[in-house]
Amino acid sequence: MITVYNHHHALHQGKLEMFRGQLVPCFEVPTRADDVLQELQRRQLGEVLAPQDCGRGPIERIHSPRYLDFLAGAWSEWVALDPANAERDALPSVWPVRSFRSDVLPANFSARMGLFSYDAGTPLTSGTWAAAYAGACCAVTAAQRVSGGARSAFSLSRPPGHHAGADFFGGYCFLNNAAIAAQALRDAGAERVAVLDIDYHHGNGTQAIFYERADVFFASVHGDPHTEYPFYLGYADETGQGAGLGCNLNLPLPRGTGFARWREALALALQRIAQSGAQALVVSLGLDTFEGDPISGFQLRSEDYFRVGEDLAVAGLPTVFVFEGGYAVDALGTNTVNVLEGYA
Ligand SMILES: [Zn+2]
Repeated sequence: MITVYNHHHALHQGKLEMFRGQLVPCFEVPTRADDVLQELQRRQLGEVLAPQDCGRGPIERIHSPRYLDFLAGAWSEWVALDPANAERDALPSVWPVRSFRSDVLPANFSARMGLFSYDAGTPLTSGTWAAAYAGACCAVTAAQRVSGGARSAFSLSRPPGHHAGADFFGGYCFLNNAAIAAQALRDAGAERVAVLDIDYHHGNGTQAIFYERADVFFASVHGDPHTEYPFYLGYADETGQGAGLGCNLNLPLPRGTGFARWREALALALQRIAQSGAQALVVSLGLDTFEGDPISGFQLRSEDYFRVGEDLAVAGLPTVFVFEGGYAVDALGTNTVNVLEGYA
């Protein structure tokens, strides 16, 4: 297993997020990726590489230029508003919901930040752009390795990506690394690609990006959005649109679901992916399905993650793993590497 590691991930370190009516310390912290790297090295799972600088090209295949311009310049704009802002992260507080316009790009920074986001749980910091950009390059490098003939590669980076859409951030995510990897596989010649999202939370960003496309099949096993974040997408009746009709599969499960039932959903997702004719697979690898996760509600145990990796290997597709959520930091290294070792 090749791992492409983002050495710049810790440049993104949010201080506070809005959670149930108060500002609390961020759940998405740098030790998440550090611990996984340490466990990978301890168990000698394979080579660890730095990404190649991919430039904005492969990122613009997924994200709009005006959104990327905003992200790249947001911190300097934030500090220019008030030098004291250098000590606090930027959080959005106003959003254009139904009946507001989203075609006008406001001059006001807070208004633009709201236009390009959908929650107040995702602080933008001095190093967010640098960390997210390097993370996208990890996903591209991992996809290139797999396109070049490697059986699999793991993009180990944070912030995560699957909640980010073509022009919005949220859910701790800024650039959709899994979507960028899937597009890179397509651009390298795979005619059909599948993205399988096994994070606890629905990958709303990835779904939205590919919803009208027939060349990228999206499948997700996740907490029922009736009760679980991101709430407004991820229902079973979302099956794709236009050319993409039939190319989207959501398998929401109730809070409290254990491994046996979860694994049946995984099997169904893999069966539909096989039927889709995908020639390569991207796995949005979230580990917040773990029983000890502080913000999620499934009951997978550490040993179950070996079986997850084995099931993914049986699918027999060249696979790019992209690191997503998982907030039980003490067990995160073990659980992540259990999947990868089970796969290997
Ligand atoms: Zn998650």
